[in-house]
Amino acid sequence: MSTRPTEVAEAPRADSYYCEIPNDPCAIVMFGASGDLARRKLLPALYDLALHSCLAPRFKLLGFARTDMNDDAFQRGAGEFLPKGDKAGADASKQKEFLQHLHYFHGNYDDPESYKKLAKRLEELDAEGQLGGNRLFYLATPPEVYEHVIEQLGRAGLAKSKNADSWTRVIIEKPFGHDGASARELNAKVLEVFAEQQVYRIDHYLGKETVQNLLVFRFGNGIFEPLWNRNFIDHVQITAAEALGVERRAAFYESAGAMRDMIQSHVLQLTSLVGMEAPARFDATSVRNEKIKILQSIRPFNSETVWKSVIRGQYGPGTENGVAVPGYRQEPGVKPQSATETFVALKLLVDNWRWSGVPFYLRSGKRLARPMTEIAIRFKKAPHMVFQGESVEPNSLVLNIQPDEGISLSFGAKSPGSHMHISPVTMDFRYKQAFGGGSREAYATLINDCIRGDATLFDRADSVEAAWGLVDPILEAWQNASAPPFPNYPAGSEGPRAADDLTVSEGRRWRPI
Ligand code: NDP
Repeated sequence: MSTRPTEVAEAPRADSYYCEIPNDPCAIVMFGASGDLARRKLLPALYDLALHSCLAPRFKLLGFARTDMNDDAFQRGAGEFLPKGDKAGADASKQKEFLQHLHYFHGNYDDPESYKKLAKRLEELDAEGQLGGNRLFYLATPPEVYEHVIEQLGRAGLAKSKNADSWTRVIIEKPFGHDGASARELNAKVLEVFAEQQVYRIDHYLGKETVQNLLVFRFGNGIFEPLWNRNFIDHVQITAAEALGVERRAAFYESAGAMRDMIQSHVLQLTSLVGMEAPARFDATSVRNEKIKILQSIRPFNSETVWKSVIRGQYGPGTENGVAVPGYRQEPGVKPQSATETFVALKLLVDNWRWSGVPFYLRSGKRLARPMTEIAIRFKKAPHMVFQGESVEPNSLVLNIQPDEGISLSFGAKSPGSHMHISPVTMDFRYKQAFGGGSREAYATLINDCIRGDATLFDRADSVEAAWGLVDPILEAWQNASAPPFPNYPAGSEGPRAADDLTVSEGRRWRPI
């Protein structure tokens, strides 16, 4: 991970992202380079890394896809997605220089000939840039293509490091599998060709500054961790809400839904960071060993608890910022009677000493009232209220992941005046105020980590499979029963009413979205 400043308040934001120790030179081969993710996120992330001296001066990026184009067309296309206007780093000459490192390779993902030619092209680029044989393969294609690419890289001898001093790594995009069985199958295929330490399964949520800060908050400070357990915490709420609908991803979303797209990956990742024990060290093995233990401690769902503890929803027509928006079933590319869930709320129990009896309520959905991702820790009430006639809201610690990144702690304070009235107030830490500027895009952080060989923020085979192990029984139960009457929440709302019952029936309530 990148080094962070200690004197944060004074540290100029932009400079803190510079790589003082140059990264190894390397060739990055991006499969699916003509696609949405590559152009919208990955190429701008690489530009950010180049701008901050995190890519070696002679790095090479080779876009691989079936679309017929040459280097010029690829560079022009990439240029359109680089920062514009007053965005940091928008500088024509720097962008021009960056684009000259981009090359394009027209090939077929399952064609052995393409990979023979790719191997040859990589040799040329390696010699041109004196890259020392270091290679990073980035699989940014739809998941159905992953196995072809992995297999062909193996057959072409491209998966092995070129020599004893060089490295070869592969980043694999999410979703990693469609269920537990397919994730296991994919892991097996990947590990036939690559060693686990070469494999970087990406979940871009983990590259967000505020998500990483959760680890610093918990394990870098002395005051919170002693309270972080069943003795002091009543429950935990994790919300990942989007205001947008399905946008251009209907084809993917129809076969995924909120459970696969958000809960299995991002939301369970957040859960494991909130719940894990302190790792012995901040390194990939120690952190990932602790994360997997939490996933393994979550009580599995069975045919009874699925129906009591998991709620699904689908948005109908409604409004977003006062503008009428269609329901999910009216979106282009969605089946008119689609049973795909666009919302999930669920209650998890973690069977270990730290969390016994503390429910974790998770929810995620599209077309909700506003976009926000937060983790809320709700503490227990004061054991005895000495201020008669006054009721005090239990303390909440809220970690805002997006959009307004920060941490706030709510507590009761005496309202000024001659009477003893207690009002809720908050102590706020805002990332922007404290550090200035904006955060680095998660993809830049993670690609940088991969080039440095730091897998701490990437998923290991066992944790991907453990996460699927938790959601598989839910997906199976849903598949074998008819969906609730969809749509069951209007676009722009807080989700289906049934989700409230999860918390209200236990004397709690969701935080407003
Ligand atoms: P795209 O649908 O844009 O696909 C990327 C490229 O793959 C396309 O340009 C196309 O290139 C090729 N491709 C598309 N469909 C097929 C197919 N059926 N068979 C073979 N090749 C195909 O995907 P995205 O860029 O949106 O996503 C890439 C990966 O990243 C996916 O796994 C996605 O889940 C993941 N992801 C995407 C996010 C996003 O914001 N877009 C966010 C998080 C994850 P060509 O035809 O030129 O070969």
